[in-house]
Amino acid sequence: MARRTPAVAAVGLAAALALSSCASAGTTRADASAESGLASSTTASATGAPEASSPEAGASEHTEGALPGSGSASATPSEASTATGEPGATGDPTASGTPGHASHTAPASSATQTPDPQDTVAPTAPAQSIKGGVDCSKVPCVALTFDDGPGRYTQQILDALTAAKAKATFFLIGTQIKAYPQLVKAEVAAGMQLGNHTWDHADLTRLTHAQQLAELTKVDRELAGLVGVTPVFLRPPGGALDKAEKLALKRPIADWSVDTEDWRTRNTAQTIKVASSAKPGDIVLMHDIHASTAAAVPQIVKNLQAKGYHLVTLTELIGQHPTLGIAYGWGQKPGGPKHS
Ligand SMILES: [Zn+2]
Repeated sequence: MARRTPAVAAVGLAAALALSSCASAGTTRADASAESGLASSTTASATGAPEASSPEAGASEHTEGALPGSGSASATPSEASTATGEPGATGDPTASGTPGHASHTAPASSATQTPDPQDTVAPTAPAQSIKGGVDCSKVPCVALTFDDGPGRYTQQILDALTAAKAKATFFLIGTQIKAYPQLVKAEVAAGMQLGNHTWDHADLTRLTHAQQLAELTKVDRELAGLVGVTPVFLRPPGGALDKAEKLALKRPIADWSVDTEDWRTRNTAQTIKVASSAKPGDIVLMHDIHASTAAAVPQIVKNLQAKGYHLVTLTELIGQHPTLGIAYGWGQKPGGPKHS
């Protein structure tokens, strides 16, 4: 367990740095939503502050928007329209800091983003059923997770996972689901687990409980309509919620125990190196919105499988009855001590 201390500390440091790097946008966004009591994305777009409604603005674990030179400016309308069928609605967080960044706010200003009392009404669709064929109490397992998608590299990652008979969990952003609905269907068809990563990558710590619920329920409802199931696990952008908030949300929360920092390095070799260091029980954090990560996945899968590790969904790793109010990942192992 001692080996985790640096990892957790590093995550904390990254989060702290991220908070400082995007505090301005995040504050604007949160304040705006607090004043109106409405969904933050709509409020932010109404203020005419595009950067405030980007997924990164409220993020703390991901600072894609704070990093220039990402190479993501190569996003082209053709790529986006191919994947989404909605030209112009690229909804790609990798476009942050680029002209494409503004396009990410397009969905936020659409009618679908209008705050609706229904957003807080729980969907009737059942939770996604993850059968799995792997018993992680008997064999070594690692859970790869990909946040902030779906995006234009998701299919490449799906193909790599499927080719190796590996499973993973994708923590989806609502605005990305709207932009890439076919990729969500592809994830489900490939046997991947879906997770809730809020509607617009909101920093939940800045929202009221009602606003938090709206952020999550809106994603559930979107997925219920699209694929007929709702996600089991929540991963709050930034990861940090206090214990009372975690309990109040009444959802299993999955953080991570191995942070590849792929969003920061955008380096395939480094992402392979860190992800391949995972040990049984680990939850590995990556993002399926970066080309460097997509390029890393085949080798990561190969390295981990070569050690005899099974690459599984979170439900397979944690079990069918995850405990509410804790965040799995930060030292949490299946059957291990609970972490708050
Ligand atoms: Zn994220």
